[in-house]
Amino acid sequence: MKKAYNFFLLYFSFLLSRAVKKPIIWGYPSTLSIEPTTSCNLRCPECPSGLRSFSRPTGMLSETLFDQLIEQTKDYLNYLHLYFQGEPYLHPKFTQLISKANEAGIYTSTSTNAHYLNEKNVKQTLESGLKQLIVSMDGITQDVYEDYRVGGKLSKVQEGLQLLLQKRKESQLLYPRVILQFLVTGKNEHQIPALKQWAKTIGVDELQLKTTQIYDYENGSDLIPKDLGYSRYIPDGKGKWKLKKEIENKCWRMWQGAVITWDGRVVPCCFDKDGTHVMGKVKDEPIKKIWQNEKYNAFRTQLLEDRKQIEICKNCSE
Ligand code: SF4
Repeated sequence: MKKAYNFFLLYFSFLLSRAVKKPIIWGYPSTLSIEPTTSCNLRCPECPSGLRSFSRPTGMLSETLFDQLIEQTKDYLNYLHLYFQGEPYLHPKFTQLISKANEAGIYTSTSTNAHYLNEKNVKQTLESGLKQLIVSMDGITQDVYEDYRVGGKLSKVQEGLQLLLQKRKESQLLYPRVILQFLVTGKNEHQIPALKQWAKTIGVDELQLKTTQIYDYENGSDLIPKDLGYSRYIPDGKGKWKLKKEIENKCWRMWQGAVITWDGRVVPCCFDKDGTHVMGKVKDEPIKKIWQNEKYNAFRTQLLEDRKQIEICKNCSE
């Protein structure tokens, strides 16, 4: 009840803020993403973890900080995504972190490249109470898969996923719900029919065909799919490309939740991969205070007045 009321307050204050063009924030974040680690086993070319290109510090979330965060947020937090950058299963206590959040009554989710779904991790995942597992797999043959997931092994992903689904069935568990996520690009769109067939055969709960964010889209890119139904960008009629969706001066995410890096920096959303807009540090002050501080509200004001002025918001489909 407390959580539902908090959510209502957030949504109502969001609507009100849009109407008066000033940030009004009632309630506390109902969604959080917490980063277990910045480390990753792959070398994906558009990702700072893969490229080892962070300018912010890199490392592993401490259990003490995690406990502190759960304690501070458990009364109003509905959804915890234990993922931001990096591969979460590289955190040595990853499934224990999930268990703690689950025991605190929070719906838990994570995203993985599924290279660590071995017998031990599958068992621990099923026991942890994890509610949702998103597996990224952007190709159905090794050559297409590794074109983006550099250093990845498709057979390992497929075996891990099959093992998890098989063990879940044997244990008669409903969770975690498994979502197979496929980022559609010009290089893999031809594999969609084969992918659909495979997903059906192994019995994933949901197949998500997602549009891909492309950093330099104005001049076109071979990553933009030919089927524009899977693209965030369309030709502008003057030889360039533009965002399909008109940018509006709003963003519900800034009223709904926040992202916390492994070392406790609060950043606005998952588009701020390198932590350009740090609103505060949970090591210095509680999240409730950061959530309503001047810096956060200045960011919200800019969103309501002229979102295009914020670099990370220019190419965002929210
Ligand atoms: S990039 Fe900007 S508009 Fe997009 S979710 Fe983040 S804050 Fe909102």
